[in-house]
Amino acid sequence: MIKFVRFDAGEGPVYGVLEGDVVTEIEGSIFENWAKGKNKYLLKEVKLLSPCEPTKIVCVGTNYREVVMKKGESLPEEPVIFLKPSTSVIGPEGKIVIPEGANEVNFEAELAVVIKKKAKDISHEEATEYILGYTCGNDITAKDFMEKGKPWTKAKCFDTFMPIGPCITAGIDGKNLGIRMYHNGNLVQNSNTSDMIFNVPQLISYISKIMTLNPGDVISTGTPPGKGVLKPGDVVEVEIENIGRLRNYAY
Ligand code: MG
Repeated sequence: MIKFVRFDAGEGPVYGVLEGDVVTEIEGSIFENWAKGKNKYLLKEVKLLSPCEPTKIVCVGTNYREVVMKKGESLPEEPVIFLKPSTSVIGPEGKIVIPEGANEVNFEAELAVVIKKKAKDISHEEATEYILGYTCGNDITAKDFMEKGKPWTKAKCFDTFMPIGPCITAGIDGKNLGIRMYHNGNLVQNSNTSDMIFNVPQLISYISKIMTLNPGDVISTGTPPGKGVLKPGDVVEVEIENIGRLRNYAY
């Protein structure tokens, strides 16, 4: 298991590996070949950034069985997907800006998959080799701007509406990870990725048959039940087993 981070130690963004409380800058690319360099820092000395810079984020709608069961609906036959722009991404400790006129901003704890190499028309059997690793995602939505039958773009695409981080964990399997959301310290979502309707390889295959996935692109795989309304000053933390906690503040 390797934890990649992107960070700034005062001289701009660089990539590193996180071991305990120590961040070691790497040489090369996390997507291809890399090696540990000589610069080391304590975690508390650096500012963690979003762990990658996606060209797009592909989000998956209803993808937890428990959500469907609670609504009394039948399971979807294919994934529901939508996009978030690269400009919606923020990193750990970043501020989620509540837009003017939005009174019902929701958070969603999601397992986010980071793509390792260009993926087009991939079968689900091949999909695993296109995964760099996993990070925590928080799919923020301004429900005020979500109208039935209309595109979700305004509700989903504001700047700061896609926190990701704190690290990308490589070398783990995404199919059985505890996933939780804390809202001002209260546990409001608590599930396991094994409850997903479409698993990660199926999602990569499905999406890659529609659009090319680039290295660093993110697939946010949907959220388990539980929600709350985000108000200025609130803190939200997504916690996923083997990855860590992604903490952000509403502003
Ligand atoms: Mg979502």
